[in-house]
Amino acid sequence: MPRTDLTWNTALLYPAPDSPELEEELASFEKLVSAFRRSYFEKVANLDDRALLAALHEYEALQNRMSKPFCYAHLLFAADSANPIYRALNQRCSELGSSLSQQLLFFDLDLMDLDDDRFDSFCRMPEAACYVHFLKGIRKFRPHTLKENEERLLTRKELTGIRAFTKLFDELSASFCYTMEMDGSMKEFTGEELLSLLHHTSADIRFRAMTLFLEKHGENGIVYNAVFNNMALDHGQDMELRSYSSAIQPTNIGNEIPDEAVEHLMSVTEANYGLARDYFRLKAGMLGMDKLRNCDVYAPVAEVERAYDFNEACALVVDSYNDYDPEFGRIVDAFFSDRRVDVLPRTGKSGGAFAMGISPEVPPFLLLNYTRTLRDLATIAHETGHGLHFVLSQKQTMLNYHAPLPLAETASVFGEMLLTRRMLDNETDPIVRKSLLCAKIEDIIATTFRQTVLTRFELRLHNERKSGLLSNDCISEIWLEENSKLFGDSVEMIPAYRWGWSYISHFIHSRFYCYSYTFAELLVLALFQKYRQEGDSFKPGYRELLESGGSLSPADTARLAGIDINTADFWQKGYDFLGGLIEELKEIA
Ligand SMILES: [Zn+2]
Repeated sequence: MPRTDLTWNTALLYPAPDSPELEEELASFEKLVSAFRRSYFEKVANLDDRALLAALHEYEALQNRMSKPFCYAHLLFAADSANPIYRALNQRCSELGSSLSQQLLFFDLDLMDLDDDRFDSFCRMPEAACYVHFLKGIRKFRPHTLKENEERLLTRKELTGIRAFTKLFDELSASFCYTMEMDGSMKEFTGEELLSLLHHTSADIRFRAMTLFLEKHGENGIVYNAVFNNMALDHGQDMELRSYSSAIQPTNIGNEIPDEAVEHLMSVTEANYGLARDYFRLKAGMLGMDKLRNCDVYAPVAEVERAYDFNEACALVVDSYNDYDPEFGRIVDAFFSDRRVDVLPRTGKSGGAFAMGISPEVPPFLLLNYTRTLRDLATIAHETGHGLHFVLSQKQTMLNYHAPLPLAETASVFGEMLLTRRMLDNETDPIVRKSLLCAKIEDIIATTFRQTVLTRFELRLHNERKSGLLSNDCISEIWLEENSKLFGDSVEMIPAYRWGWSYISHFIHSRFYCYSYTFAELLVLALFQKYRQEGDSFKPGYRELLESGGSLSPADTARLAGIDINTADFWQKGYDFLGGLIEELKEIA
């Protein structure tokens, strides 16, 4: 059945932003949280095992209950950040959330402080099994945590500090409209629409679109400079206060991946940069160019790029999940039939795409900015993969619901592989096959090599900010240097690319997230090869991996599907697979 209403139905959560249900819920939190504080403040160390278990249940129920209205406010704001009602609600929730988490903070801190014998005895209780991973995760931060009143003060000042800069970054970036000449007339574009022109057949349009997008950010260089400098300074102060040895360490502890393993992942990736350069030269040849510019990396290799109507795209995605497992197909289809997806780009709507998992009881939502390209089609497979993961991990309770960061991209990237494989298998036209292969290779390059460039840039940014304020010239220089390690002499960077760092929201929203994409891509390439070799016998383990949510460490979760991430050649296998795809392409090209 064709879908005509392509906005999401947030009424599935609350009837309206001013509805009494929502108001009642928000108003109840202060009371509930105060009651919790009265019951347990300064008492956690003296609770017996049963009472501690009851406290954890209560804490989890609170977290569960708070997630729904806060996520609702975030969804409204993401769909239309210019709407004053949504803005006000989102701001209110952000202030309330900050105040509640300050009041609840003592609980995490007291759990962290439990002495080891006490903690071990609690963990031996069978009913506590579901909290062990959560508790161990918290206790890893013990050496880096301050006293309760200090932590509360920091959380409180964040609202006008780092979180205010984050919000400024979001609002400024979402407010841009762009005007560019196309087909003889001046046209208006959102940032997303402009970036999708990097897939246009005309080299001139690709160049102008990327230049206009980046120069617009450059015009606001004063703001981006303040945001990036303050973000790095804030993090630097945090590292000092909390005695971290490097900027990336808190992320690695949270990810439960040792620093050396992350460094190994990145250096294996860097050792394979030659594969990307090989591909860029091959692609320049296919496009009849001497050398690619970085605005040409995603240029279509076919004369006419195929546009995918949204309903057709949905059907392709649902079918590819359906082929793998009919239940996966049903879960994915429900996003569209329940209208839990916001599809089209608009001014004021946040860019990119995301999936929001709310809690084990509330269905997840997806945001897209669909512009009919093959890449957008892959994004649907990607975000519905996240959605599927969120639905399957609803088996877990709230504190184990969210997958650990390095595994958060597993189902999404696996979903993209299912779509590509299905399309490649059903396609006989060599030109379309060539396009599909290029898209997949470019995607792997973007999620592995490019993310490593981003992480290296991020590391240097934090490091060099320690010696003082960074000018935009200086940030741009670091940016271009790190990029040229990947591109070498195979790609020429356009002049406006000096602003390429300014729009990447991961740097602002979730520090050092980028290497998680590399981790996930290589893990998925390994999973997918296993699936191709083992067929149906692979499926129960993979399903178990997704259902386990955040209840286990990344290494233990991967083991459910028979993958050992600690073997020395594990990462290289993914790149060998990529090398194979490039060879396959050379034969058709
Ligand atoms: Zn993703």
